[in-house]
Amino acid sequence: MPARLKIVGLGAAIEDTQILQRVDLSLQPGEVHAIMGPNGSGKSTLAQVLMGHPSYTVTGGSIVFDGEEIGHVATHLRARKGMFLAFQYPYEIEGLPLKDLLRTAYNARYANTDKQIGIKAFHDLIQQKLTLLGLDPSFVERGVNAGFSGGEKKQAEVLQLAVLQPKLAILDEIDSGLDVDALRRVCNALVTVKKENPDMAILLITHYNRILDYIVPDRVHIMKKGCITQSGDSSLAKVIEHEGYSE
Ligand code: ADP
Ligand code: MG
Repeated sequence: MPARLKIVGLGAAIEDTQILQRVDLSLQPGEVHAIMGPNGSGKSTLAQVLMGHPSYTVTGGSIVFDGEEIGHVATHLRARKGMFLAFQYPYEIEGLPLKDLLRTAYNARYANTDKQIGIKAFHDLIQQKLTLLGLDPSFVERGVNAGFSGGEKKQAEVLQLAVLQPKLAILDEIDSGLDVDALRRVCNALVTVKKENPDMAILLITHYNRILDYIVPDRVHIMKKGCITQSGDSSLAKVIEHEGYSE
């Protein structure tokens, strides 16, 4: 089966500072890979570069998504091909109801397909997803992340996943800043979304391995100073738990 995502020798810089050095990574459809590493090691940079954030310059290597080189493809077109990024720090947009963002994103994701959807049909779709994730209908009436708790912001990211059904979800520290209860809720929601969309590959970026108790990765990669220095199965996360990110 062709890889969902294959990165070879990827390098990236921001403002003339080289951050990523020759990163190699390959995910099959449906696989979950964790990327772990100390703060400042380049995890968010990798996530942003994969999505084509304009602040970063790709300095070498290739990014192939479903057999197609996408290193120079615009961000919204990557999203349309099925890539999705959940932000480490989701933006707050006061005055824009979450349901409107979701419907606009949905219609943009499925532009030029027969999946375009009107307000009524989208309302039904949203209700179904809210029920699936155990969220109150009032959740999507609120402004995007406006006044949301840390856990609610991450729930909103997972709701986007449920609605947009990407082929690859890049989750940048979806677990950061959550207490034990919020972490459990977000992880359960994530597991539910993954069950509904089993072919979705997940790149799970995390600093801590507690999320890996809920979502067992097929592979774990350790990133340090912009390089993947070690890869292994899920037991590698346990080694990190005991030994930390030693130099
Ligand atoms: P992580 O997500 O693993 O904590 P980041 O990808 O956010 O790491 O950051 C990687 C490195 O890039 C850090 O050393 C950070 O200081 C550096 N960095 C981030 N933004 C800039 C910038 N605008 N200019 C120079 N260096 C930056
Ligand atoms: Mg980060």
